[in-house]
Amino acid sequence: MNPFGVGHSGDDFAERTARCGCCGLPFKYQTLRTQPEARHWCPDCEEHHPQDGEPIEREVDRLRAHDQVLRQRAADASAAATRYETQMLGLREQVAAALQTRDDWRALLEDVRSAHIEEEAGRCSCGQAFPCVTLDVLNGDPGRAQHVADVANQRQRRRWLDTEGGDDPYG
Ligand SMILES: [Zn+2]
Ligand SMILES: [Zn+2]
Ligand SMILES: [Zn+2]
Repeated sequence: MNPFGVGHSGDDFAERTARCGCCGLPFKYQTLRTQPEARHWCPDCEEHHPQDGEPIEREVDRLRAHDQVLRQRAADASAAATRYETQMLGLREQVAAALQTRDDWRALLEDVRSAHIEEEAGRCSCGQAFPCVTLDVLNGDPGRAQHVADVANQRQRRRWLDTEGGDDPYG
């Protein structure tokens, strides 16, 4: 059985979007490329769309059906909003956890740093010669330390030029 009908393949069809003249909601449908069909009613409204001189029952059925569809849409939108909200909460928790981890490491480094002070000339509070191996590690490699100093200098210079203008005392 050919689902597209005798003599037709899927390539003969195009998807169209229209707005239902009954419920006012957009809908999609497949129609032949060569003989496009203009549809005015969505599948939900084909049975009950307005007609001239229609009995009052038809109008009541229509309003009831629309009410049901709109309620369903509202429920779906509300569920989507709740899902989104839950996702946002999850992300916020992840960010909070990451920040907490960062703060924990920073506090640990600060604790370690405070255990290595030059208590007396040339001697670290850990008992080794000052600066001790731990301090060397904490201060990082000289290249990185220089980079940090350069960035700080550039910032200071830019700020000076922004506020004072005129001659560059650093240039
Ligand atoms: Zn409709
Ligand atoms: Zn309708
Ligand atoms: Zn030390």
